Amino acid sequence: MNTMTNPRIRSEGMRIGGEVVFTDDVVEVLFPYTDEVIGTVPAGTAEHARRAFEIAANYRPRLSRYERSQILQRARELIGERRDELAKWLTLELGICHQHAIYETKRAQDVYQFAAAEAMKDNGEIFSCDLTHNGKARKIFTKREPVRAISAITPFNHPLNMVSHKIAPSIATNNCMVCKPTELTPLTCIALADILYEAGLPPEMFQVVTGMPQDIGDEMITNENIDIITFTGGVPVGKIIAAKAGYKRQALELGGNDPLIICNDLSDADLEEAATIAVAGATGNSGQRCTAIKRILVQESVAEKFVPLVLEKARRIKFGDPRDPETELGCVIHSQAAELFENRVLQAEKDGAKILYHPERRGALLPPIVVDHVPHDSELVMEETFGPIIPIVRVSDIDEEVMAISNSTDFGLSSGVCTNDLNRAISYINGLEVGTCNIWEQPGYRIEMSPFGGIKDSGNGVKEGVIEAMKFFTNVKTYSLPWP
Ligand code: NAD
Repeated sequence: MNTMTNPRIRSEGMRIGGEVVFTDDVVEVLFPYTDEVIGTVPAGTAEHARRAFEIAANYRPRLSRYERSQILQRARELIGERRDELAKWLTLELGICHQHAIYETKRAQDVYQFAAAEAMKDNGEIFSCDLTHNGKARKIFTKREPVRAISAITPFNHPLNMVSHKIAPSIATNNCMVCKPTELTPLTCIALADILYEAGLPPEMFQVVTGMPQDIGDEMITNENIDIITFTGGVPVGKIIAAKAGYKRQALELGGNDPLIICNDLSDADLEEAATIAVAGATGNSGQRCTAIKRILVQESVAEKFVPLVLEKARRIKFGDPRDPETELGCVIHSQAAELFENRVLQAEKDGAKILYHPERRGALLPPIVVDHVPHDSELVMEETFGPIIPIVRVSDIDEEVMAISNSTDFGLSSGVCTNDLNRAISYINGLEVGTCNIWEQPGYRIEMSPFGGIKDSGNGVKEGVIEAMKFFTNVKTYSLPWP
């Protein structure tokens, strides 16, 4: 197929050292709703990544804090001005509905707003040295310095926001980053690069290479100019990176299997509110958030009241063509993923679950299937089921037993708990083996600068969020002066 002659197909190049670089071989990008090719990116090779890292490592950014902050603020404005265009392509390459795509652009704007503010703050510390009987009339100071080059490898599910969480803190700390977006949704990352250049970012500070992981993946991990790898994606690839990266500093932000726990102290009105949180948290971004609600653990004495409320809300969701502004739920990334998740539901049914709502799946358009009485150890809720399924697990009225079930998967990313009892809230905050616990909120709730990241298989404990990422992307230099 000659994609260059079809005006409806966007043929993008890589962004390497200020140049737009094409290759003969391309990776096709599909619209999940129709499976049509909507764009292509180059099938880049290790050689392209090598060149980009060399450019990055040889460039010394000299932007003042003021200049960095201005670039970040301008990027925020440009995302706002281009919101509809960005949302259109998010919908086309990812298949999420227009409403969810608009939300993603707004989250990304927050990332740049916070990074612009943080860039203005001095991040050094001062220590007086005359504090003990060994004291001296000196002071010790710290400052944070950028590294040679950062490698960013990003997942398909938030093509704008995940890349923003890498590049905004990188700019704020005067670093040079090479990003390899996923081959499934790479177009938005390239549009973002152009926005950043337009906002005044030197092109050496953010380069984008594209291609298949087998051709370009190793170079993104092992290139000698890389000091830091920041990866967001699934557990299997995260573990491959951990095995190959050796001495390089790594942030591994991996998969989740987050519970929403519904406690038995809730009134009818509270249960209504909890059901709203449950359905929104399970279906937002087509269920393709690392922090989407993947299991609803409801205590058995309130389950009979709670389940019909969930069912009613799920039935009301308008799912269909992601481009229709009225649509509230679009597709998952491709029909194979949709089929896998649907099969897990069918397997759970064989294991004793009851399917309450299962309108027909059409390709990648996976409806918000409601399943009750899901055994807590069925594959549907033990593995990360990355779609808008709403699985309800009825659990004991004893909180310790609920926590044990919640902690029984390999994941430990985030969680939500609905209770009005502060003592119970505190015991869940202390007892759940997770990176985040939100009381009366979706597990996915955060602001873009608060610390975020998981433990166990969900991550190596390194947090993201603008402030933590800025620390992670810098080396602390300590120096002292002979004056008190
Ligand atoms: P994935 O692991 O399949 O791919 C992620 C990235 O790794 C892609 O860019 C891919 O091309 C690249 N990659 C694949 N194999 C590679 C290799 N051998 N070497 C180097 N790079 C390689 O993940 P995905 O399916 O794109 O994303 C979904 C996953 O991401 C889910 O598990 C989700 O929970 C997770 N996620 C986590 C967070 C978080 O903050 N913890 C946020 C968003 C998504």
